[in-house]
Parts: sequence; C-alpha cells; structure tokens
Amino acid sequence: MQSYDLVVIGSGPSGRRAAVQAAKLGRSVLVIEKGSRVGGVSVHTGTIPSKTLRETVLNLTGWRERGFYGLAYRVKQDIEAGDLMTRLHKTLEHEVETLEHQFSRNRVHMLRGLASFVNPHRIEVQVEAGESRTVEAARVVIAVGTRPLRPPHIPFNGTTVIDSDELVELTTLPRSMTVVGAGVIGVEYATIFSALDVRVTLVEPRNSFLEFIDRELVDDFVHQLRDRGLGFRLGSKVNSIEFENGQPVAMLEGGRRVRSEMLLFTAGRVGATDTLDLPACGLTADARGRLTVDPQTFQTAVPHIYATGDVIGFPSLASTSLEQGRIAACHACGEPLPPAPAFFPYGIYSVPEISTVGLSEEEVRKAGTPYECGIARLRETSRGHIMGLNGGLLKMIVSIETRRILGVHIVGEGATELVHIGQAVLNLGGTLDYFIENTFNYPTLAEAYKIAALDAWNRLTPRKEAVAEVAAAAP
Ligand SMILES: Cc1cc2nc3c(=O)[nH]c(=O)nc-3n(C[C@H](O)[C@H](O)[C@H](O)COP(=O)(O)OP(=O)(O)OC[C@H]3O[C@@H](n4cnc5c(N)ncnc54)[C@H](O)[C@@H]3O)c2cc1C
Repeated sequence: MQSYDLVVIGSGPSGRRAAVQAAKLGRSVLVIEKGSRVGGVSVHTGTIPSKTLRETVLNLTGWRERGFYGLAYRVKQDIEAGDLMTRLHKTLEHEVETLEHQFSRNRVHMLRGLASFVNPHRIEVQVEAGESRTVEAARVVIAVGTRPLRPPHIPFNGTTVIDSDELVELTTLPRSMTVVGAGVIGVEYATIFSALDVRVTLVEPRNSFLEFIDRELVDDFVHQLRDRGLGFRLGSKVNSIEFENGQPVAMLEGGRRVRSEMLLFTAGRVGATDTLDLPACGLTADARGRLTVDPQTFQTAVPHIYATGDVIGFPSLASTSLEQGRIAACHACGEPLPPAPAFFPYGIYSVPEISTVGLSEEEVRKAGTPYECGIARLRETSRGHIMGLNGGLLKMIVSIETRRILGVHIVGEGATELVHIGQAVLNLGGTLDYFIENTFNYPTLAEAYKIAALDAWNRLTPRKEAVAEVAAAAP
C-alpha cells in the first residue's frame, strides 16, 4: 500500500492549492479526484465557465459599447448557444492543461476515483467499476466542495428546468428565463442572460437579497436592472413547477405564476460529503453536508484531517478556497504562518459587477463607529466618460476619528479589479489621505477613489468640529 505525507480529496481550488503548497514544502502528496479531469467545480461548472460565458456575452452583444451606440447595437446579430460554448471549451481546455502541468511540475501524484475513508489514516479509492486501491495518509485535506441542491419538488429535466451545472451545457438559448434563488450564482446568471436580451424574472423567497452587500449599492444595482427590464419577484416562495405547452411555470406562494422557456434553479448547494464514509474517520457533517473546522488552522475535530473550500461553508469562493488550502497545508507541514488579513474582497460577476471589501455602512452603524461616506459616480471620471459609462458608483466609508478606510463598495464596470486598491489600503491600515495625496494614472476608473476620498474629505473638514459634533450627538 502506498503511503503519503498528505492525501488531498478533491482537485478544486482549495485541494490543488493545498497539494502544491505541501509539495513545495518537500512532502509526498496525492490528490484523489473523482471527476474525469482536474479542476473541480471552479473549472468545470462554476467560476471559470460562468465568467467565460459572461465575457463572451459582453463581447458578442457589444454590451460595453451600448452607452454610445444605443441599445440595439450588437457585435454579432444572432447569438447562439454554440457561440457561447466554443469559447467556454477553449478556456476550460487551457485551464485544465495549466493545472495538470502545475501538478506534474511540483510532483503531485494524481489518482482518479471516488475516495472514502476506511479509518482516520486510510482511504479507499474506487478507481473503476469494481476496482479499488487503498492509500495511507499521515494527514488528509478534505476538499470535496459542493453540488447544486436539487429539492424533490423541482422537476429537473436537463433542458427546460435545470441547475447551474447543466447551464454550462446549453444547446439552445431561451427567449425567457426564470431564475429561482437570488444568491450570487442566481444574480450572476440572471443578469448575464438579461444582457443577452433574454427576458429574465428573478424569484427569491426573502424580501431582499445580497444581504451582505452595502444597501446603497444594492439599491443602485436593482435600479439599473429594473431599468433594463429584469423582473423581480421578491418575497415569493416557489410552491411547485407545472408545465404548459412544454414550458415551465413557477407557481408562487400567494398565487402568482411565472412562465418562461427555461427555469434555472440556483437556490443553494450541499457539501459533497455523502460518499466519504465520514463515520469511518470519526467525523460527521451537518444537515447540508458541511464540515466544521477551526477557522485559523482548518483542522476538523480529528486533528490530522483538515477541511477546506466550499465544504466548510461561507464564504464559498474560489478565491478564499485557494487561501484556505494554502493555510491548511502549511499548518499540516508545521510551517508557521502570519495571521490572515482582516478583510478579503467579495466579487459578484453580475452585469454590472459588484465588488466590496471591509464593512458595509450598515455594519459600521451597528458597531457605533462615527463615520462618513464619500461617493464617486464612474461617469464622473474621464475614463468613464470615454467608455460611455452611464451607471456605476464607488462608495468609501471612512472613520471620522482616525480617517482610516473602513470599507470600499463598488458597482459597475471594473469593480472586481478596482476593489483591490481599496483592499490594500484597508488591510494596511491606510487613511483617506492616501487617495488625496497620491497621483493616479489619468484617465482611469481608479480616479473614482480620489473623487470619493475628496467627497468624504469635504464632509469631514474641519475634522475637529466633526468629531465634536458626533461626540455631542452620542447618547
Ligand atoms: C456557477 C458558479 C459560479 C461561481 N463563481 C465564482 C466566482 O466568480 N468567484 C469565486 O471566487 N468563486 C466562484 N464560485 C465558487 C467556486 O467555484 C467555489 O468556491 C470553489 O470551486 C470551491 O472550491 P473547492 O476547493 O471547495 O472544490 P470544488 O471546486 O468544489 O471541487 C471539489 C472537487 O472534489 C471532487 N470530489 C468530491 N467528492 C469526491 C470524492 N469522494 N472523491 C474524489 N473526489 C471528490 C469533485 O469531483 C470536485 O472536482 C462559483 C461557483 C459556482 C457554482
């Protein structure tokens, strides 16, 4: 039986980062992957496919040029599913090749098959029907990720009622779509298809959505979406799905019905732990298949077994999963690490995109910190004007007492890139003066930081008076 210093189950972002990190530290590493190719949800059905679809839609529709040439402008007149899939397959091929090369360069061993525990140090792998291999592991990282939730009352059929995994295999584009579940995945796909001029209705049982995002940003976002015809049914639970002339009709609580050519169900995901035989290693998962870990080390209740990525729940991002894999591997190899920075960015690749780092205005208010906000509209920058941008804003939240940046929230073109400037200043403990005193390239969208900082500065000055005012107002 082969023994390894580290066995990683799953080759998504957290598994692969853990594997490569441990290999770089000189450990023998095996990755077990049940899928036919490495990469996980991130490469095959999640992050990369959805972002490639988004980029293709924006390019082929000429979305970024419509500010100048009008709503009817298109780079390609009749966009078909095949147009979207061609670019998708090319991108995925490239991603897989890069990962396979990364594994072989770092001497990470790969075994294709379904892993399950025999005991806390022994893992059985079903390599082919009926055939199995057993490996021994000093340490284990469980990085099995999640799969879409498929409740029994939703009649999935792979063509007109689908989940997000099936969306990346579309053969025809619908003219209308109902998206059930306004989480990040639902919002991204709803807005991407709306940019394709598909008539989209977003259905969500709660009265609000994207609750972790600053409300002012969400209000601006919703305004932009309503303006281009995207329909919202908030506070509406789907009771059942019926079919009329082959088209799915979502029957909502309260009697409303939403009919469309396609229904995309994106209301939740479950941890893929059911085939691991967790009791054999002394672990149990929660009702949604997720594992609990020490948030500093990513150790489970069984100290030599770690869990990383989506299988441990929030924030369920490829970006944070990668980092969790690195931290777990370093801990497993006895390598000390500095504490993780306080804030990581959130990127929502909707159309328009949203990105945020640090505290929202609601969180700052709840903490009782005296604060001020600065706002910049992207169209106020020369670059935004050149690009023909109509929407988009950057909001900066600043502490009145220390002038430190508390949060940066952006909706609009380039948000997921722009946010990293705010992230650096925030995590390095910088103040709004950084943005006022430093020269920025011109013309850039990043100038929005300067405009927002000056806006906040105008409200903060004279500083002493502002502090006195807040102190006097305090109960
Ligand atoms: C539609 C969509 C869009 C997304 N967009 C973004 C985005 O823009 N940005 C972002 O940061 N994140 C995004 N995410 C989230 C991101 O994809 C996940 O956070 C990330 O993939 C989680 O990585 P992971 O390491 O947990 O493993 P996963 O990527 O979930 O991979 C787990 C792997 O484990 C394998 N596996 C499972 N069980 C076993 C077993 N028993 N034996 C062997 N192998 C097993 C699976 O086959 C899979 O390959 C998106 C997700 C979805 C669904």
